[in-house]
Amino acid sequence: MSYTAINPFNGETIREFPTTSDAEVEQALEKADYFYHTAKQQPSTERAAQLEKLAQEFAAHNEKYARLLTTNMGKLITQARSEVKKNVEFAMYYVKNGPAALKPIPYNNVPEKKAHVEFSSIGAVLSVEPWNFPYTQIMRVFAPNFIIGNPVLLKHASIVPECAQAFEDACNKVGIPEGAFKNLFINYNQVNRIIADPRVQGVALTGSENAGRKIAAEAGKNLKKSTMELGGTDVCIVLNDADLKAAVDGAVSARLNNSGQVCTAAKRYIVQSGIYDDFLAGISTAFAARKLGDPLDAQTTLGPLSSKSAQKALHEQVEKVLAGGAQVLWGDTSLPQGPGALFNPLIISGMTPENPMYDTELFGPVAQIYKAETEKEILKIANNSCYGLGGAIYSQNIAHAKELASHIETGQVAINQPLTSYPELPFGGVKNSGYGRELSEMGIHEFVNAKTILN
Ligand code: NAP
Repeated sequence: MSYTAINPFNGETIREFPTTSDAEVEQALEKADYFYHTAKQQPSTERAAQLEKLAQEFAAHNEKYARLLTTNMGKLITQARSEVKKNVEFAMYYVKNGPAALKPIPYNNVPEKKAHVEFSSIGAVLSVEPWNFPYTQIMRVFAPNFIIGNPVLLKHASIVPECAQAFEDACNKVGIPEGAFKNLFINYNQVNRIIADPRVQGVALTGSENAGRKIAAEAGKNLKKSTMELGGTDVCIVLNDADLKAAVDGAVSARLNNSGQVCTAAKRYIVQSGIYDDFLAGISTAFAARKLGDPLDAQTTLGPLSSKSAQKALHEQVEKVLAGGAQVLWGDTSLPQGPGALFNPLIISGMTPENPMYDTELFGPVAQIYKAETEKEILKIANNSCYGLGGAIYSQNIAHAKELASHIETGQVAINQPLTSYPELPFGGVKNSGYGRELSEMGIHEFVNAKTILN
């Protein structure tokens, strides 16, 4: 397995990193275990102060960190700057709220007894992360676990090694204690051995369903706690009474942000018949206005996919979708030529449950659109998925939209806005989108020992 940064816009190799040896993995585990034990003697507020320094480092050098995102995985530079800002927000949420979230909770509801639950660290957590949000995916796991006192070992996606290294370098620069965070350029067998190691007590994976099944199986085999943040086929429901402009703007950005490579991207538009034609005209115009190109160029509004292999895989998936009976309503299915991973955006209709590609997550700028008459029909389409990550509803009747949201089988639904994550709110899915929650106070309680003390 190679950890090589290749610019997906021009195909140029930037840097190849040496892989981590088994001896280096053992050293990382030893240091992680040392941190785990020493952190037990240290108040979490001290770590909060150290985490704040990490947040300040990302805030002070936004451009440096943003450019690595753009050159490693093709994120538009404006969106890369936003990701670095969000990384700071995620860290700062736990700086401000982490120690309080770990305060003991009294339970005085047992007759004639007193009890409380205290929260403590459990050991190292292995964090296996994808390339689509290279820093924030790490911070979601690192920040809460650092406050608890759980060391984090990182196995990042092999195509974003400069981002993984930059995160570790930032930790070292600001004085995050040795052993608290370690990036490892390891292969899948080494991942499995780390999961089995008794010094490791948790695994947090964000990635595809396929990786989720494998990592969750390893965690289960070794009785290790795991969280799984996996893929999705999120819906964007547009009701007849929606504000058309808001719906079009929200739907387009929710599908094309990050070149369509977002777990909670609006992968399926379900549009009520009364607004369907106007909505389709609106999104077609907005898709056409996107300018494909170099993500470092401020004029570009649609960057490349993350890699040449992602481009090839999505192209093959689209061919299968069309062979299965779906049609292209708007867009050019040809593959842009050249060494880069550009991909023309597409709007597809006619996807039916009989299509062999039904319910396949298309990770790129390919929107599916469905026309529906009734809300019963809308919910049937929305919930006819093995995934359950997120979704959005556009309607001017907020109370009604909330009611509809309650019937959608996902972990989160946004109303009149694209779904995004906030550090204050729990984030996660149901069904094959995984289990567990990141962010908020729920995120900090995933890998703790909630110990009941009774007297
Ligand atoms: P991926 O191929 O599953 O990879 C994710 C991570 O898992 C990478 O670090 C990868 O390493 C590693 N990995 C894959 N198979 C493994 C195995 N058998 N053993 C050990 N490690 C393994 O996913 P991706 O293509 O990077 O990311 C896209 C997917 O992530 C999409 O499905 C997307 O929806 C999902 N996602 C979900 C969320 C969420 O919060 N729910 C957020 C973002 C993305 P290598 O790179 O070395 O293969």
